[in-house]
Amino acid sequence: MFSTSHIELSRDALKHNLSFLKRMLGKETRLAIVLKANAYGHGIEPFLKLAEGLGVRHFTTFSAREAQAALNARSKDSVIQIMGDLQDDAMAWAIQKGIAFHVFSLSRIERTLKIARDCARPAHIHLELETGMNRVGVPFKDLADVLAIIRRERELLRLEGTCTHLAGAESIVNHVRVTSQLEEFHRLCNCLAEAGIAPGLRHVSSSSGIFTYPESRLDMVRAGIISYGFWPTPEVRMRYLMDKTLNPKQSSYDPLRRVMSWKSHVMAVKSVEAGEFIGYGSSFLTTHKRRIAIIPVGYSEGFPRSLSNSGRVLIAGRRCQVVGTVNMNMISVDVSGITGVKAGDEAVLIGKQKRKSISVASFSEMANDLNYEVLARLSEEIPRVVVE
Ligand SMILES: *Cc1c(COP(=O)(O)O)cnc(C)c1O
Repeated sequence: MFSTSHIELSRDALKHNLSFLKRMLGKETRLAIVLKANAYGHGIEPFLKLAEGLGVRHFTTFSAREAQAALNARSKDSVIQIMGDLQDDAMAWAIQKGIAFHVFSLSRIERTLKIARDCARPAHIHLELETGMNRVGVPFKDLADVLAIIRRERELLRLEGTCTHLAGAESIVNHVRVTSQLEEFHRLCNCLAEAGIAPGLRHVSSSSGIFTYPESRLDMVRAGIISYGFWPTPEVRMRYLMDKTLNPKQSSYDPLRRVMSWKSHVMAVKSVEAGEFIGYGSSFLTTHKRRIAIIPVGYSEGFPRSLSNSGRVLIAGRRCQVVGTVNMNMISVDVSGITGVKAGDEAVLIGKQKRKSISVASFSEMANDLNYEVLARLSEEIPRVVVE
């Protein structure tokens, strides 16, 4: 408590997004929700609890630390899967807790085998294949060796999934690259079949691919940003709206609802005469008399510094402009012309107030950032509360 702002998570909005995603995915494709970057700023613990309550049973993280938070929050038998980094001690922990993780190189599978043997417990693994992203993934030249190990060590290496990651399914610009990745993925899955190895859950798609390459959904999707109610890019939203198969009624209605709202309050109000600078330095000069409200949120909480002199905040149901630079813990906004603004009034940084709304998209387009980056940088210190 005693916080200068808080983030509300809407159960209704999440329920709405999940039913939309389930309708898109059908019965054959499992939904795994990505919880990296503190659940895209929503808070791993409250978000996982909310999602479990709405029937989600598969969560993926980047790190073991995030998986630990997910494990502590979990109350059902939900699957937890680590996609990213694991040092030896973390891998031993994951194996002991039955947490699945990706193996993406010959050396990582050798290390996994050794640690599983030391723990005398099987490792639950997902084989990540290199198909053209050129980040992590077993390259073709090592595949036969990796498959030989998996076949030989079935007791200690339980292959639960086979996957890859698409290098930019959010934009048509990458079409050739992405479609050749999909072809390569199926070719490599055939190598598994020839080696007599069942791939387990095949998963390649994140939020964008669900809409831009429906054939990439396969057995499971790893949905991050879309679950939280944000489109990966405006292009993905347009492609969904215009696609006659995905959106048969050609409705222009946005099927997603933002789960998060970020709220603070007015800390102080003051009048500034014409010809004065506001805040540090000289980036904002008043041309006439102004009323300024100070909001106790700044870049340390994750309000982008690039919104200096351009961001918007909702006060009294009106959009108010940030004036001057975004400080470490404060911003100043212009409330001239709104009568009665006083300390303690609600200020909405992301979300709705009366009939106006500020989305992270408009917020981050102004900041020239992606939704992803703004969400990922919301401070962990901000309390998260669940609302209906
Ligand atoms: C981040 C990530 C995802 C989720 O991406 P979204 O665009 O947020 O859906 C899926 N898979 C991997 C490997 C990721 O790193």
